[in-house]
Amino acid sequence: MSTDAPSSIDMLRRLVAFDTTSRNSNLDLIKYIQNYFDDFGVASTLVPNTDGSKANLFASIGPEVEGGIVLSGHTDVVPVDGQPWTSDPWTLTEKADGNLYGRGTCDMKGFIAAALAHVPAFQRARLKVPMHFAFSYDEEIGCLGAPALVEKLLGNVPQPKAVIVGEPTMMGVVNAQNAGGGINATFTGVEAHSSMTHLGVSAIHFAGDFIHWLNELQEELAQRRRADIDTVPGHTTINVGVVTGGTAGNILARECTLNWGYRTLPGDDPWEVQRRAEKYVAELLLPKMRAKHPDANITLRRRSFVPALDPKENVEAAKLALQWTGGNRTYAVPYGTEAGIFRGHGISTVICGPGDIAQAHQPNEFVARSQMDACDAFVGKIIKWAETR
Ligand SMILES: [Zn+2]
Repeated sequence: MSTDAPSSIDMLRRLVAFDTTSRNSNLDLIKYIQNYFDDFGVASTLVPNTDGSKANLFASIGPEVEGGIVLSGHTDVVPVDGQPWTSDPWTLTEKADGNLYGRGTCDMKGFIAAALAHVPAFQRARLKVPMHFAFSYDEEIGCLGAPALVEKLLGNVPQPKAVIVGEPTMMGVVNAQNAGGGINATFTGVEAHSSMTHLGVSAIHFAGDFIHWLNELQEELAQRRRADIDTVPGHTTINVGVVTGGTAGNILARECTLNWGYRTLPGDDPWEVQRRAEKYVAELLLPKMRAKHPDANITLRRRSFVPALDPKENVEAAKLALQWTGGNRTYAVPYGTEAGIFRGHGISTVICGPGDIAQAHQPNEFVARSQMDACDAFVGKIIKWAETR
C-alpha cells in the first residue's frame, strides 16, 4: 500500500504505451492493470477468451452489497496502419494546444486511466456501495469480449445500480444509442473464361445485385426518419465496408465476399434488415443465380450484434450521471458500444467519457487535458456519492 497514486494523465501515458490493437493480445495491458490493483490490495478476476490470448478484467472495491456502480471500458484500440500520424501513436504526447495525442487516448483509455488513477481514493473512501471495474477486449471488432465479462460480473456480485461506459462523449450523458449488426455475405459462383459467360456464373455480378438491393433498402428505411430520437441521421443506416473477390479480369469470379452491416434506432426492430436480406436472397437472388448454374450459392453469416440503448430503460443511470457531470440534458448517439450489452442484463446504463468521438479511430487521435480534468471531477463526485448515500 506504499505505492503513490498516479495522476490520470500519468496512467493514460502507461496505458497508451501498450499496443492493444484488436488483432493483438491485450494480456500485457491486462496484467499491468492486475498488478496495479494488487499494489493497492484489490483482487481482480480475469475472464479469458477461448484460446487464452486475451482477457477481460473485473475488480471490485467496497462492501459486497447491491447498488454499486460499474465503470466500464474496452482495452482494445483500432489499428494505426496507413494513417499519417505526426507523433508516435504509442507514446502519449502533449502538444502546445493542450491536447494529449496517442492511439486510444479518447477511445477509450482516457476513461480507464481516470478510473484506475482513483483506485487509491476508492480504497481510502468509506464506500457504502461498491465500485466495480469492468475492462473488456475486442470491442472494436464487434463487442466480442463484453458478453462473457457481463456474465461473470452478474454471476459473482450483487446487482449493481448503474453502469457508466466511458466511451468518448465529451463528458455528456448519453442514454440512447443505435443497435448495430455486422454480416458477412459470401457469394460462390462458377469460374469460366470471360468469353464464355454462359458456362459459369460470376459471384461478383450477383454481389453487385445484392449491394444495389441494399442501397434501395437503405433509401426506403431513410423515409422512416424518427423525430423522437435526436441521433443524426435519425434512421436506419446500411454500409458495405469491404468487398473482396475475383482473381483476374478475364475470369468469371468464383467467390465474392461482402463485409456489411447496419444500425437501427432504439425501439426499432433490430432484426428487420437481416430478415429482409435473408428473404431477398432465398426467394429472389439465389434462385436467379442457380438458374445459371446449380452449384452457385449465397450465405449470410452474422458476424456481430450490439443491442441498442433505449432511454426509457436507463432513467436511473442517467439521473446519477447527470448529477455527477452537472449536466442538464442527455444525448443520443448513432454508434454502438458495450452499453447495450450491460442493459441487456438488466442494469441501468449510460455512456459518459472524456474526449470527442470525432477523434476516435483517427490519425493523431487525442483527448484534451480539460476533458481528463472533467473526468477526474466526475469520478470524484462518484466517490462522494458512494460515501454519503
Ligand atoms: Zn470505443
